Amino acid sequence: MNPSSIDNNSMNTFKAAFSGPVITPGNAEYEHARRVWNHMIDRRPAVIAQCRTPSDVAAAIGFARENGLVIAVRGGGHNVAGYAVCDDGLVIDMSLMREVTVDPESRRARVAAGARWADVDRATQPHGLATPGGEVSETGVAGLTLGGGVGYLRRKYGMSSDNLLSVGLVTADGHTLTASANQNQDLFWALRGGGGNFGVVTAFEFQLHPVGPEVYSVNPFYPLDQAEWLFRTWRAFTAEAPDEASTAFAIWSIPTHPDIPAHLHGTDACLLDGMYSGPPEGGEALFRTMRDLDGKLLDFSGRATYLEAQQAFDAFLPEGGLYYWKSLFMDRISDEALHTIVSMSAKRPSPGILVIIRHLGGAIERVAPDATAVRNRAAQYMLSIDGGWTDPAESTDNIAWIRHFWEEMRPFSNGGVYMNFPGFAEDEGDPWPTSHGSNYQRLAEVKRKYDPTNLFRMNQNIRPAEGP
Ligand SMILES: Cc1cc2nc3c(=O)[nH]c(=O)nc-3n(C[C@H](O)[C@H](O)[C@H](O)COP(=O)(O)OP(=O)(O)OC[C@H]3O[C@@H](n4cnc5c(N)ncnc54)[C@H](O)[C@@H]3O)c2cc1C
Repeated sequence: MNPSSIDNNSMNTFKAAFSGPVITPGNAEYEHARRVWNHMIDRRPAVIAQCRTPSDVAAAIGFARENGLVIAVRGGGHNVAGYAVCDDGLVIDMSLMREVTVDPESRRARVAAGARWADVDRATQPHGLATPGGEVSETGVAGLTLGGGVGYLRRKYGMSSDNLLSVGLVTADGHTLTASANQNQDLFWALRGGGGNFGVVTAFEFQLHPVGPEVYSVNPFYPLDQAEWLFRTWRAFTAEAPDEASTAFAIWSIPTHPDIPAHLHGTDACLLDGMYSGPPEGGEALFRTMRDLDGKLLDFSGRATYLEAQQAFDAFLPEGGLYYWKSLFMDRISDEALHTIVSMSAKRPSPGILVIIRHLGGAIERVAPDATAVRNRAAQYMLSIDGGWTDPAESTDNIAWIRHFWEEMRPFSNGGVYMNFPGFAEDEGDPWPTSHGSNYQRLAEVKRKYDPTNLFRMNQNIRPAEGP
């Protein structure tokens, strides 16, 4: 569909009812507005509707239905699979709705659905408060939260979605609803992990917790040839770690950056990465075992403001690269799994492929697996293979290698995948039943209730359950 085939009257009526910019291929803003973070995604929507209000969202949904347009919903535009943009259809773009308001008394924040995590952190930190976000501050709140959300506060305060108190949403038939523990409970259950399947979220309300202003950040780099014993050291650390410590073991190439000595740029290395969210002196003592090992190449560990720690990785994962990420949940990491991870990671075809194993457990595990749509609560680790490069000629080989590695690791996993790191969702079969067990049927039923025609399908799609 191109804009000329959209009914003129319908377009004029829509524009009159819509308060934000309506961008079509002829507009100067179009090329920028259609781009998402991953530049491997190159789609050309017919219309991009940049919403300012929930009424705009309802008008956009109505316009798409009237003209039979596919809908993509854009939060931060960071999903690697590029769900935030579609060919020929309508993008409901929330990126102008970024307001965050904080009530320090009740420790709550209301976050408009186009906000990035940096917006949330900047608004909450002046009150000494935070809610679990992602590890890169430019990532969108909406997609990350709807898919679960794991960041540096995960073991202390759970996933981002575990901290939701209510969600404002416009449904497929244009109704505005609130979902919470007291209203539309089935929808509230599904929104915490079920992705963008159920409507367009306009605002989230989060529980906040005392965090910062200073935390302790840990991130020493060691030579790759020490990977196996370092991994074992870290694995032993995770078995005893307090909830305040959320850490990860990664294999990566030391990035080129002005703050890093030039002779180390591009060196293959292991990184022990994490944050201690309690008083920084606690982290300083706790992380000594991870920092004071032989052969250290580089170390930026130390006290940092929570805001700095949340932004430390931003520069290394910039918009405009070519990205492909896949994940697996692992209940435990056996020696055989550890050996496979290390030996495969040593053969990475591109320095921009980051292999990262995050320690989970803690507050994530203390929520029952059927309490929200997020199922994989018992997994102690999540492996993600985060590929990033800039030369399109490398894409085919790099993607094939990441997929091969992922297949090698599947037997060590619990079968679950993190829906926010989905590759391009090109795997055969539906990942939801395998990954989400009995929660899947419930998700499909909520989908049938709120979006029976699967209007919202540019996502990790849950098909509506068949009728009774
Ligand atoms: C650099 C980088 C770092 C990351 N780090 C982490 C991390 O530390 N932890 C983690 O858990 N994940 C992380 N992720 C993954 C991230 O959770 C997903 O990419 C997520 O989809 C991003 O959300 P978004 O709003 O930016 O995405 P978008 O691409 O805008 O949207 C993603 C999905 O959510 C849907 N959606 C977006 N907005 C709405 C809305 N308002 N209503 C309904 N549906 C909506 C979209 O339709 C789409 O299906 C990272 C991603 C990147 C690129």
